[in-house]
Amino acid sequence: MMEIPDVIKGILILGFVFVPIEKALAAHHQKLLREGWFTDLCYYFSGYFIGHGTTKLLIVFVLMSQGSIPILSRFVGQQPLVLQVTAAIFIGDLCFYCVHRLLHTVPWLWRFHAIHHSSTNIDWLATVRVHPFEQILTKSCQMIPLYWLGFSTEALAIYAVFSSAIAFFIHTNIGIKFPILKWIIATPEFHHWHHDRYPQLKTQNLAVQLPIIDYIFGTWYMPDQNLPKQYGTELNIKTNYFKHLIYPFTPFLPKEETHGSSRSHIDP
Ligand SMILES: [Zn+2]
Ligand SMILES: [Zn+2]
Repeated sequence: MMEIPDVIKGILILGFVFVPIEKALAAHHQKLLREGWFTDLCYYFSGYFIGHGTTKLLIVFVLMSQGSIPILSRFVGQQPLVLQVTAAIFIGDLCFYCVHRLLHTVPWLWRFHAIHHSSTNIDWLATVRVHPFEQILTKSCQMIPLYWLGFSTEALAIYAVFSSAIAFFIHTNIGIKFPILKWIIATPEFHHWHHDRYPQLKTQNLAVQLPIIDYIFGTWYMPDQNLPKQYGTELNIKTNYFKHLIYPFTPFLPKEETHGSSRSHIDP
């Protein structure tokens, strides 16, 4: 019997896990096949292969740049696995925080990141709506320092699984609050405020794993209200995979292509 490819298994597992959870605990009532679902499905499949390809290229790059830093590597690699995973999460999310902040504040980078913020329905499937350039950029910024520091293969494997799981978790359309957990790891409440259509701060909740990083940098935002009422941006970004791919380059394309995309990077 033909074996099911991992990419198909992945989407089936995600669907079986998150669809019932969102159905039972929905924060916002929306159809299963809500606006943009097909676009996001395209992102899932393309992102899967881009992610795998990027990992391979990063490993080659790290090996060509003489691999990890020897003294640090010996020290880091000998630490207990729990400590290594904890440190990897902190360093990885700190790196993500920095690049995410740039994605919001540097106008040409925002044009790539605006694609992720173009989702008007935030749910598990919205996780994967990330422009390929951004996917490669953020993955490189997170993983290269971890490779250089010499974390063990086991620690990096656990970190990779944790990163994927929490990425889907924080986008889930559920209205549950996690009173204690929300101080330790990122929750849907935390990240949904990042996607707020009308954010109080333009750059709020930029970490995706550890809210304490936002707390330290003064970008933590968790009001008592339930969740944002509206998501998205004021930009006129058509929900279409191929239009998304060229969206960051539209200022350089002929006039008709630039319609509705001339606003600055500022979220409303
Ligand atoms: Zn963002
Ligand atoms: Zn997001």
